[in-house]
Amino acid sequence: MFYWFVLAVAGLAHPPQRFEFEHAAMGTTFRIVLYAVDAERGSQASAKAFRRIDALDRILSDYDTSSEISRLSTTAGSGQWIAVSDDLWAILEYSNSLAIETGGAFDVTIGPLTRLWRWASRREQLPDADRIARARAAVGHTLVEFDTSVRRVRLTAPGMRLDVGAVGKGFAADAALEILEREGIHRALVDAGGDVVASDAPPGSSGWRVAVPELHGGTVATRTVRIANCAVATSGDTYRYFEVDGVRYSHIIDPESGIGLTTRRIATVFAPNATEADALASAVSVLDGAQAAKLLDARRDVSGSVYELDSTNWQTVYASSELPH
Ligand code: AMP
Ligand code: MG
Repeated sequence: MFYWFVLAVAGLAHPPQRFEFEHAAMGTTFRIVLYAVDAERGSQASAKAFRRIDALDRILSDYDTSSEISRLSTTAGSGQWIAVSDDLWAILEYSNSLAIETGGAFDVTIGPLTRLWRWASRREQLPDADRIARARAAVGHTLVEFDTSVRRVRLTAPGMRLDVGAVGKGFAADAALEILEREGIHRALVDAGGDVVASDAPPGSSGWRVAVPELHGGTVATRTVRIANCAVATSGDTYRYFEVDGVRYSHIIDPESGIGLTTRRIATVFAPNATEADALASAVSVLDGAQAAKLLDARRDVSGSVYELDSTNWQTVYASSELPH
């Protein structure tokens, strides 16, 4: 009884305070907001979380030729089985299951096409049909083989390149939150440049305030939701796209056609973790309304919306019957 009383008083003397930290990685700015008893605890924990994100960047970056994923891509078509790290294995295995479920609309073997479109965008010239066809021949989730007994992977076609841009930031945000949790920080939010995951709510609040897109009479506005122990991710071409001959091609590519989406879309997905929210938001950007509904409605604790610009008005392609508020 006395012990409890001392603890309660000590708790009152040191109410947790809010701290915020930022770190550049994966081509974006990661932000951590957390509650800790003092600045030192908060900054030590966030430094550890940022180190974890940097370590993942060294595994997952397709810009860095020495990253694990780039080295794996160079073995494509050689027939070699390559042992992969636990992190890369987790991402590839999850991505493969989502590729199967979406009939290949979500596919991290998209690399040859993203590379081709980046190149075309720099030259401000459309890639010709021949180049698109050649890149497409090296894209397809069935071209990745998994040896589950020893966690090895084989890329079976020459010219394949893995690009986990649609899921890597979410995965890194989850990994960072896990580090904070392990460091004893249970009220935190990790924002990976728009892909957000949170643990328990701030003291005295029902959740962390996060702005998400919402449709208002044909235009896209934002609304604020409160999230706790949940993630939210948004995909769209607002900031990242290729422009060639005055046409805007999304950085999200339809693997079927090999062409960046030309319909403008904004997809938002709420999910229990950021890996799933990030990947599903990218997936429903490619799918039609019925397919998006099938993908999201089948999951417990997942909801979302997909908006599309129809000449001058934004329309709802899909919206879950219940969205967080
Ligand atoms: P996000 O912003 O999370 O929607 O991810 C977009 C990124 O995912 C692009 O910049 C590409 O690196 C990659 N990507 C493009 N198209 C696809 C696709 N169909 N499936 C999986 N990843 C893709
Ligand atoms: Mg994504």
